[in-house]
Amino acid sequence: MYLQKLVLTGFKSFVESTTFVFDAPFVAIVGPNGSGKTNVADAMRWVMGEQSHKLMRMKHHTDAIFSGSTSKARLGLAQVDLHINNSDHRLQLDYDEVVITRRLARGDNETEYLINKQPVRLQDIILLLAQANFGQKSYGVIGQGMITDILNANPPDRKNFFDEATGVKEFQIKRDQAINKLIRTED
Ligand code: ATP
Ligand code: MG
Repeated sequence: MYLQKLVLTGFKSFVESTTFVFDAPFVAIVGPNGSGKTNVADAMRWVMGEQSHKLMRMKHHTDAIFSGSTSKARLGLAQVDLHINNSDHRLQLDYDEVVITRRLARGDNETEYLINKQPVRLQDIILLLAQANFGQKSYGVIGQGMITDILNANPPDRKNFFDEATGVKEFQIKRDQAINKLIRTED
């Protein structure tokens, strides 16, 4: 399983649809200050279901949508597509390529999530990635200062990081879902 392609359409500063093709194992994104390098990392987090505005450097959820510039009007829709090569079927789906999409229209409170163009719930994406020991919360995207944070983390936070890396997270999510079902049944 590896990241093949990332397509940003109307996401933050990416007003034109922009495709990054990752066909080499090592990729660096270089550019002048403020040119949008970190926005690419933000897009990766966003499409994987990140809910923390702070982590994605936003005040409001619509800050994910291009807000206009001196020469271009603001847009009404942001979309990020993450193309994953799944020929080893580490993502537990019967597809060799899996495209995860997150889309937000201005005025909508909720974002839409899709897997291979089929609407899904956020929970489905989180579980799919957790089953592959991958997720938006931990080592999937290592941001500036994160290594220091992990080294300085308190034991519960550090445990959370390793839970995701070792695959325990999948079972914690399933356990929580089962507990919720039991509570609803009891009610
Ligand atoms: P640095 O080199 O300083 O780390 P960078 O290349 O990482 O910079 P980013 O932080 O990714 O740059 O991009 C910042 C730019 O993105 C700013 O110019 C900001 O105005 C623009 N930007 C962020 N959100 C939006 C938005 N919703 N609409 C339009 N532009 C946006
Ligand atoms: Mg940056």
